[in-house]
Amino acid sequence: MCGKLYVVATPIGNLADFSYRAVEILKKVDLIAAEDTRHVKMLLQHYAINNKLISLHQHNEEKAAPGLVEKIKNGLNVALVSDAGTPLLSDPGMPLVRLAKQQGIEVSPIPGACALIAALSVSGLPVSRFTFEGFLPRTSAARKTFFITRKNESATWVFYESSHRILATLEDLAEIISGDRRIVLARELTKLYETVVNASLDHVLEQVKNNSNMQKGEFVVVVEGAVIEKRVNEITEEQKRVLLVLLQQCSIKTAVTMAVEITGARKKVLYQAALELRDK
Ligand code: SAM
Repeated sequence: MCGKLYVVATPIGNLADFSYRAVEILKKVDLIAAEDTRHVKMLLQHYAINNKLISLHQHNEEKAAPGLVEKIKNGLNVALVSDAGTPLLSDPGMPLVRLAKQQGIEVSPIPGACALIAALSVSGLPVSRFTFEGFLPRTSAARKTFFITRKNESATWVFYESSHRILATLEDLAEIISGDRRIVLARELTKLYETVVNASLDHVLEQVKNNSNMQKGEFVVVVEGAVIEKRVNEITEEQKRVLLVLLQQCSIKTAVTMAVEITGARKKVLYQAALELRDK
């Protein structure tokens, strides 16, 4: 009988953020595959979980995954955990989950903490559409290039950042997007020094620059989507489609005049949207 793979989320700071079911599963499986076995032991001890551990981290996971999948096929139930939060989200686990699924093994989530979702839930920014960017490039030049590509993104965007780079990253961001853009800096979520600042980029940058404590800990940065794009979003998908087709064939002026005729939308709104679509 084939076993099962459980993908188990662990707390991102506060040890109490762990579900009953997660504890039950970690107690009952045959093996726990952990990113850092020493690190996870603290959590396991806290919940009196005595179970076999095996190491599965970014440097060995490609090699280790086939062996683990073999064990599951031979009947063992395995739980995958990372150091904190949900495995695979900027954490190891992808090769194991992919291979398990390819081999027809049942993969079941045990949901729980995730820094990205925790930050979004308290950001006060729109969360109906967001893009998650994980960790950004390490060099300033590459980060700025990345910001340029995201500058006009209308959805909220979210990324992870470390204490070493938070200030430099916010400075790079301020060179590329307007200082008026709303930013949420979610620091040390669920921990003693939890801080969530929702303010303009200029204001957040000032705070981080002037207070060295604000450069310590773990960070999620949430960035408001581009306001400029919201005007494009004021028109319907159908109006946008018509405008795009016309823009490929004629000048902005003609395209807008024709789009007004065809769609009945307001000229001013269509004209602004046409400018934004052309500049994309
Ligand atoms: N898989 C994890 C998750 O579900 O959130 C993320 C792992 S990633 C290696 C670690 C990064 O997540 C940190 O550098 C930080 O950007 C973010 N993070 C993790 N815990 C956090 C916390 N308590 N507060 C703020 N950010 C956190």
